[in-house]
Amino acid sequence: MNWFEKMKTGIKSLIKREIPQGIWIKCKKCSRSNYEMALRRSHWICPECAFHYPIGPQQYIDILIDKGTFAEIDPDVMPVDPLKFKGYKDKIKKGRRESGTKESVRTGVGQIDGQPIALAIMDTRYLMGTLGGATGEKICRLIDRAIAEHRTLIVICQSAGARMQESAYSLMQMARISAKLNQLSQNGLLYIAILTDPTYGGVTASFAMLGDIALAEPGARIGFAGPAVIQQFLGTDAPFPAGFQKAETVLEHGFIDRIVPRDRMAEELARLIALLASQTASHA
Ligand SMILES: [Zn+2]
Repeated sequence: MNWFEKMKTGIKSLIKREIPQGIWIKCKKCSRSNYEMALRRSHWICPECAFHYPIGPQQYIDILIDKGTFAEIDPDVMPVDPLKFKGYKDKIKKGRRESGTKESVRTGVGQIDGQPIALAIMDTRYLMGTLGGATGEKICRLIDRAIAEHRTLIVICQSAGARMQESAYSLMQMARISAKLNQLSQNGLLYIAILTDPTYGGVTASFAMLGDIALAEPGARIGFAGPAVIQQFLGTDAPFPAGFQKAETVLEHGFIDRIVPRDRMAEELARLIALLASQTASHA
């Protein structure tokens, strides 16, 4: 490398160090580059095309929960490897590193517009937000807490479905959480499911569809088997109809109750809780 090339490389690495990574984030839908600070202010919605950027639990807490009221519960519950599934332990480590949590869901209690809630938020950065034994354990403990303290339950779904590395242990969680939700209902408490992109598989087949109210973010993919799996199963590469498995199509078919943009979600939740939480409690 000659001295001029060396100088250029030096300049490049200096620029790289001085400009923080990820300050401009490209929109997947319209390709516009958006400034990270502006996205934070717009609740991670593209100002050009209203695409909802995927966000993690902390951002949902910041957007939806009254400031300073969120208290996380059971942060140390983590998966075991009951089947000694090849490569699972490494995937758990990677999930922990990428999400900063020990399981694919964060749970806690807090307030929305002064009203008590119990909140679970799934995280696709952790093994695609899959439902493992510890995920189920955390959600069930949260429901117990909601029952004990008369809180509205909100679950933000974001998952590829059941976790294959735990096989039947994972599938059991579908029935287990569904039974717990029945207890919540018998106690006259409200459950609101929020379906975000993507909501699939065993999560769709259980608690995502059991909300007294099912809300979705615009454009969220909601289904059981995804397009790739369906094509593989049918042995075809035929295209799917426009809007296939999108929240808007799913709403048209009566699968969910309402689509709510992320920047209006807190207000909508506050309104629904004020309207319905007291009514469900009085009919218990
Ligand atoms: Zn956009």
